[in-house]
Amino acid sequence: MLKDLSLLIGLQELDLKIEKNGIKEKKLSSQIEGERKRVLELEENLLKKKEMLKHIQIERRNKERSIEEIDSLLAKHEEEKYKIKSNEEFAALEKEISQGEEEKNKAEDILLELMEREEGLDEELPVLEKESKQANKDCQEKERILRADLDSTIEQLKDLENNRKKNISQLNSVLFQRYKQLQKTRENPVVLSISNGICDGCNVKVPPSLVARVRRREEIVYCENCTRILYMNNS
Ligand SMILES: [Zn+2]
Repeated sequence: MLKDLSLLIGLQELDLKIEKNGIKEKKLSSQIEGERKRVLELEENLLKKKEMLKHIQIERRNKERSIEEIDSLLAKHEEEKYKIKSNEEFAALEKEISQGEEEKNKAEDILLELMEREEGLDEELPVLEKESKQANKDCQEKERILRADLDSTIEQLKDLENNRKKNISQLNSVLFQRYKQLQKTRENPVVLSISNGICDGCNVKVPPSLVARVRRREEIVYCENCTRILYMNNS
């Protein structure tokens, strides 16, 4: 076979493999990123909930303290009741007591709510912690496998690129430019065979005279319809 043609076919094979490996490389990289992102999201959520719990515990303790303060104030008022002489003073004290009790009720409602939230988080946190740890472990394992796959893909790409360079150095440069141009304007493959007298690229019948030229393998022949480079697979 014409040396340039076989070089071109080889080059195209390399280019298609390079393209495939490039896609695989991107896919593997994004899979690794995705795994890491998932673990990070779980860890961030866990941290957020831990902070929330801390905040609730502080709020709860503050509320307990203020209820204690209200309680001691109310106890003091109860004692004061017995020392009061006038009705007016008594009424004023009663008002203060009822205000204190109202305040205490409100504080107790909030305290109850805080305790419920605290309890919920106390139950939720160990589950999240476990989930996060497991995800981290799974991620490391998956990443190890993906990374090995990625490394070998990159290694293969290097070999393919080297072979491509070797191939191009032997190829007629005008033909190489033509091939590159075809790659830009036509869908792959751009070097292809004729089967049953039809161009595999555009599915249009190739005139018999052109088929004969392709068969002779003495020159590079282009499809008259799609301008792709033609060759005969066998015979
Ligand atoms: Zn064609």
